[in-house]
Amino acid sequence: MSIKGNLEELRRSVPAEVKIVAVSKFHSSDTILEAYGANQRSFGESRVQELRAKQQMLPEDIEWHFIGSLQRNKVKYIAPFIHLVHSLDSERLMLEIEKQAAANRRIIPCLLQLHVAHEDTKSGFLPDECRRFLAEGRWRDCKHVQLAGVMGMATFTDDLEQVRGEFRLIRSLFEEFKSDYFANDEHFREISMGMSGDYPIAVEEGATIIRVGTSIFGER
Ligand SMILES: *Cc1c(COP(=O)(O)O)cnc(C)c1O
Repeated sequence: MSIKGNLEELRRSVPAEVKIVAVSKFHSSDTILEAYGANQRSFGESRVQELRAKQQMLPEDIEWHFIGSLQRNKVKYIAPFIHLVHSLDSERLMLEIEKQAAANRRIIPCLLQLHVAHEDTKSGFLPDECRRFLAEGRWRDCKHVQLAGVMGMATFTDDLEQVRGEFRLIRSLFEEFKSDYFANDEHFREISMGMSGDYPIAVEEGATIIRVGTSIFGER
């Protein structure tokens, strides 16, 4: 099927309130333009250099999402334009985003990336690390970083009950943080979870943003 057809099918299969981020990593600018032509405006990338090159040549009204592991020395390259960083996973990274956002006179929305999968490779805060990070409160001084919710990935497994359990944990951590720290902050509202293989379960478990690559663009 075509990218347009894939997008239309995906849009039909999730509620309209769920934001679809089209993960375009490793795909060409022409491929992105094809999705753009089908009214897709949110795209996700996981490498700074690739994102920066694409951002420079593609339409200005694209919302770029950073979904990969973000090195501090590269924050400056995306700070001028990034729409949402899904992968905030340390205080040091937050302090660098704060610095670069301030230098660009911007407020950069960021999601707390949570590590809930049973895999060593997935990055993010462990639940207790994230609790400690929030309790320490340095984020309150970062006026140019807006904590906007949480992001997570489930284990890559055929065991769908395990996947569901992990999405449930991400959701419950979101609820805990919301009530402990952000009850009066309307900006803290996003739960980014679900990829091509598991987004229907993520949506059932409360995702507000899904990050889908393969189901839109085909295999990378
Ligand atoms: C690549 C990637 C996705 C998209 O994965 P697909 O299986 O192609 O849909 C989503 N989230 C993150 C963090 C990724 O790195």
